[in-house]
Amino acid sequence: MIVLIGGGLASARAAETLRAEGYEGPLTLVGDELVPPYHRPPLSKTYLSEPADQLIAPEDVYRANGVDVRLARRAVSLDVERRRVVLDQGEHVAFDKLLVATGAAPRRMPIPGGDLANVVTFRTIEDADALRARLCAGPRVVIVGGGLLGLELAASLRTLGHAVTLLEAAPWPLGRLVRGAEVGERIIALHRDHGVDLRTGAAVRAFLGAERVEAVELGDGTRVACDLVIVSVGVRPATDWLDGSGIRVEDGVLVDAGMRTSARDVFAAGDVARAYHPLYGEHVRVEQYGHSAAQGAVAARNMLGRDEVVRAVPSAGSEQFGRRIQVVGRVQGNEQAVLFGDPTALRFSVAFLDGSRLRAVFAMNRPRDAAAARRLIESASPVDRDAIVRTQELT
Ligand SMILES: Cc1cc2nc3c(=O)[nH]c(=O)nc-3n(C[C@H](O)[C@H](O)[C@H](O)COP(=O)(O)OP(=O)(O)OC[C@H]3O[C@@H](n4cnc5c(N)ncnc54)[C@H](O)[C@@H]3O)c2cc1C
Repeated sequence: MIVLIGGGLASARAAETLRAEGYEGPLTLVGDELVPPYHRPPLSKTYLSEPADQLIAPEDVYRANGVDVRLARRAVSLDVERRRVVLDQGEHVAFDKLLVATGAAPRRMPIPGGDLANVVTFRTIEDADALRARLCAGPRVVIVGGGLLGLELAASLRTLGHAVTLLEAAPWPLGRLVRGAEVGERIIALHRDHGVDLRTGAAVRAFLGAERVEAVELGDGTRVACDLVIVSVGVRPATDWLDGSGIRVEDGVLVDAGMRTSARDVFAAGDVARAYHPLYGEHVRVEQYGHSAAQGAVAARNMLGRDEVVRAVPSAGSEQFGRRIQVVGRVQGNEQAVLFGDPTALRFSVAFLDGSRLRAVFAMNRPRDAAAARRLIESASPVDRDAIVRTQELT
């Protein structure tokens, strides 16, 4: 009996892979949402203007493949010794092999007013539907957090014609993925040119209002009037239900490069996992679509006795005001940033170099650079800064 806990992408890929690889035994997928696994990336992009079906596979495909899908069920604890998971209604699910794929949950802000009505987070299709309903009233929207998701939501809502203010505490947006002026200034310009009131160095101190939020108060006392706040300040891995199980958890479930946890026959994949990455020589939690899918598939194959690892270079994509943004690799913070291409036409890239090693690339409307970066980072090939400047290409 194989049990997959978490009704998201990593579990869906694991289920599909197990059957594709010939596993014919009992297979159960448990998820706490009301719908089977679906694609999250469109939610902050096209879904707000064109709500379309995002299911990875319809429910009858799971049925036809003998996958027992249990929806609206939450795992509350894990007993590794007795090999069983306890669900919220007291039900026990026994397993021989288990996948932990419970993803991540949005962080809330522990500041005054954080629980006012209309201070929301954004992660699920339910959140997206609720936001679409709220938008009918034409609210003035404040987005807190200038990461990829916050920026993407700002672009989508602005494109729909809403008044949007984006507040970022750091000097630049996107700070967790790529640092500094080379990228930050251009992202700020892109958003401001399209009418987003994007403010940096804007630390939020409180949300003000009687029952519903009416304003956001910043550290310097400035108030921004609003009707709706979307808090987008990152996520935390959904590991609470593993407390007391003995499984090693350190900002995510620690797994080796083959997705094995510290407990025998228990694997973890996706946003909940912090996996050893052979390229970096350390454990990293990636929170990206391609990575989560690959981890789900590798976990499934390793459950069947294979010995595979995930060594793909992390990469994230986004779409903002018709511009394609790709971030490939990881920055540590001390890299040299080399800007090339045509920033005025918003077709440019920034390479992040550590000596002659390429660590990451930010590419706007330059998919060739993103593809080259993936190849160069994976092969650890040396890169010449002067050649990039001379040719304006990543070679
Ligand atoms: C709005 C949005 C846009 C995104 N856009 C991009 C993008 O453009 N590019 C990109 O690379 N990545 C993107 N991502 C990230 C990507 O979607 C995730 O990396 C991916 O969904 C992770 O898959 P997962 O299966 O690990 O987790 P999830 O998809 O989060 O699935 C986990 C599931 O487990 C459920 N669960 C949690 N706890 C329990 C429990 N105790 N019991 C049962 N079920 C539980 C959760 O409710 C959820 O349904 C985006 C994410 C979001 C939210």
